[in-house]
Amino acid sequence: MTDVRIKTPNLDEIFEKWKQRAARSDKKKMEKQFGTKGAIFSLDAISAAEYVKDTQKEAAIYFAFKKTVGEVTKKTDEKTVLPPKVAREMFYSFKGKGKINKDNWKGDDMVAMYETLKTIPCKNCNGKGYIEAKCRTCKGTGKIEEKLQVLTGEEQNKEEKPFSYSCGVCFGTGTNNDQCKDCGGYKNLYKYQILPVPFKTVVTGIPVLHSSAQTKYEKEIERDLHQMIEEVEGIRFNDFKDLESKAEPSLGYWNKNIKKTISSASSDHKTYSKDKEAQITTQIYLFPMIQMFCETKKGTKFEIYSLGSANKFMIYSNF
Ligand SMILES: [Zn+2]
Ligand SMILES: [Zn+2]
Repeated sequence: MTDVRIKTPNLDEIFEKWKQRAARSDKKKMEKQFGTKGAIFSLDAISAAEYVKDTQKEAAIYFAFKKTVGEVTKKTDEKTVLPPKVAREMFYSFKGKGKINKDNWKGDDMVAMYETLKTIPCKNCNGKGYIEAKCRTCKGTGKIEEKLQVLTGEEQNKEEKPFSYSCGVCFGTGTNNDQCKDCGGYKNLYKYQILPVPFKTVVTGIPVLHSSAQTKYEKEIERDLHQMIEEVEGIRFNDFKDLESKAEPSLGYWNKNIKKTISSASSDHKTYSKDKEAQITTQIYLFPMIQMFCETKKGTKFEIYSLGSANKFMIYSNF
């Protein structure tokens, strides 16, 4: 059996690396925080033993996958509206324009596509715009029937005579045209589709980091690892089953958060493995992570993180 143990960097090594870098980037701040009045400032006098108040051993898991991005969605949507609404819609056309670069695109990812606009004759009125109905005034007869009172002769005997005249509402046709409720008399409805903008598809590498230390640097570490994975040493695994059984002996320490981190990374990894558009491109890396809580003599608190083995590690700090 091969030794799976990875050597974590010791506190002095981490602190030393941090000190050198901090002095290079802001020597004045270092002098202010660590210098002694009247004495010549020297980095040698700044030791981990004096300033590191507490440390915590954590771990991080990293892998990367590539994914075809750009084709945001395959879904479509459809709208059927009255003509005045069509005129108020903003239509887009990409005919003969090629694929769109998503970075340059201002606007929604789903848009009303001009080429899909179609006229749909109203089904309710068969495209006439109105519905024929019996005239309510003449009850469909086209005629109004009334009775005339006629007084005849010297005796003025009352007689009734029929009197009918053409209906003034339906012009004697017996039918009225009622505006169709579905199309509002416009005869047609208009249908168009809301489709995804035809973005260029690009295959990109996407880094994934899970860490058990509560750091603000996850995004930064993730990006760094993506670019310089060879600069850091971790233990590589082909699958999570292997990693889960060897993580503790490899690190030489263990805690609840590390266990939790591994299981959430594992479920993440599973999701990407199942995703047809994603392809995992790296092995799974397990990195020791050391978190150091420091305090200067002036009472300024800061943290230093190391990621990697004693051979190759990166550091992060909020100093
Ligand atoms: Zn009528
Ligand atoms: Zn209609």
